[in-house]
Amino acid sequence: MRITGNAAVLACADSRVPVELLFDQSIGHIFVTRVAGNIVTPEIIASLEYAVAVLGVRALLVLGHTNCGAVKAAMKSDTVPGQISALYQHILPAVQSSGGSVGKAIEANARLQADLLRTSSTVIREATAKHTINVAAGVYDLATGRVALI
Ligand SMILES: [Zn+2]
Repeated sequence: MRITGNAAVLACADSRVPVELLFDQSIGHIFVTRVAGNIVTPEIIASLEYAVAVLGVRALLVLGHTNCGAVKAAMKSDTVPGQISALYQHILPAVQSSGGSVGKAIEANARLQADLLRTSSTVIREATAKHTINVAAGVYDLATGRVALI
């Protein structure tokens, strides 16, 4: 997949997802936010709003990935140490629509988080209405190195 300049990505914190390399971009060409499970939190919204309103980003991609530990943990809803379970509430709506499939939950999560960005951010919602930004969702396949838009 090719992204040219002025793009922002919300990716999982998982280090196996090399965002700049995926899109053939060198350091400094993509505005990257990362959080486990590529979930939309107030801090992520604020960061991406900055990218849209101040840096003039025209494309925004929520990028999930296969075999995502955060999604798998949320599916099991195991007791975990510290604050890890704080991620679950953001991922559970996707889990509930997945019918128990990890792959479907990962896709649904990327799609739902992209929907959240479109609807819960006033900056992104207005930019979407003016067609100055395109918000998309995708999944990166760790095995093949490919990104599929969903
Ligand atoms: Zn992950």
